[in-house]
Amino acid sequence: QREEWRKLRDEATVSTDGVHVELAANIGTPNDVAGVLENGGEGVGLYRTEFLYMGRDKLPSEDVQYNAYKTVLEKMEGKPVVVRTLDIGGDKELPYLDLPKEMNPFLGFRAIRLCLDRQDIFRTQLRALLRASVHGNLRIMFPMIATLGEFREAKAVLLEEKAKLASEGVQVSEDIQLGIMVEIPSTAVLADQFAKEVDFFSIGTNDLIQYTMAADRMNERVSYLYQPYNPAILRLVKMVIDAAHANGRWAGMCGEMAGDATAIPLLLGLGLDEFSMSATSILPARSQISKLSRADMEKLAAQALDMQTAEEVVALVQSIEG
Ligand code: PEP
Ligand code: MG
Repeated sequence: QREEWRKLRDEATVSTDGVHVELAANIGTPNDVAGVLENGGEGVGLYRTEFLYMGRDKLPSEDVQYNAYKTVLEKMEGKPVVVRTLDIGGDKELPYLDLPKEMNPFLGFRAIRLCLDRQDIFRTQLRALLRASVHGNLRIMFPMIATLGEFREAKAVLLEEKAKLASEGVQVSEDIQLGIMVEIPSTAVLADQFAKEVDFFSIGTNDLIQYTMAADRMNERVSYLYQPYNPAILRLVKMVIDAAHANGRWAGMCGEMAGDATAIPLLLGLGLDEFSMSATSILPARSQISKLSRADMEKLAAQALDMQTAEEVVALVQSIEG
């Protein structure tokens, strides 16, 4: 099996009926890129920039960030790199920001909410990203977007920083795709409206499941509710993918679900374009997809969407694996 995976390293990811999908990796630091390439990653689908901000006693400077982003873009040699802007708060704290304790940190002041308020932090990161954009194929993604207003405001800040750099004579790439994470149910529900304004979606199922099921992703006692196979989750995923395609955009997924062998047949059937997962899951996923027919998986996904429970969906997928 390992031998087979190694052979797939430099291959495209194609179903038996010729449908191409992209298998990308989730990374946390520039050091992770080596593993992405060793495992045949076709891109970085989620660069979690939080690590740049953690484990130090003050905010990282624009240059520290620029160097990290540049390194990742260069090492990926023109393959797409989706960088997520700062997603701090919730389970990820930054002691030096001295934020007040909250009753419900997962529902509180975090990610894009914090960045739109603390624009000094946001603008520094955006400038570093824009400067680094000339070194590869950069895509920028905002986390925890709940309303169109938030997206528009964040995009306006990005365009302002871009204009400032241009006036300073600094080179910036002209084709940076701009997308959002879909990890809050309101955004999945209004995906058709978002799709008119964003270049892409990346579905963050780790949070989307927790917010849809009202079940804390860290709490063992409610983990029976935290189910990617629940038809409610599958229907939200379908809405997002369909909205993207109806508007000529692409849809990816960067939550754990994207690398899950039971979910992959369903996601292929729902039309997901990009799957971003831990690097070590890429070759097994490529092997799995190369043995599946997208047309058959479309039928499987349609059946799953009409089921009532996660258990029924799992049994359905297992029935094709034989
Ligand atoms: C997600 O919510 O699915 C996601 C990828 O983001 P994180 O796990 O960093 O919250
Ligand atoms: Mg998330």
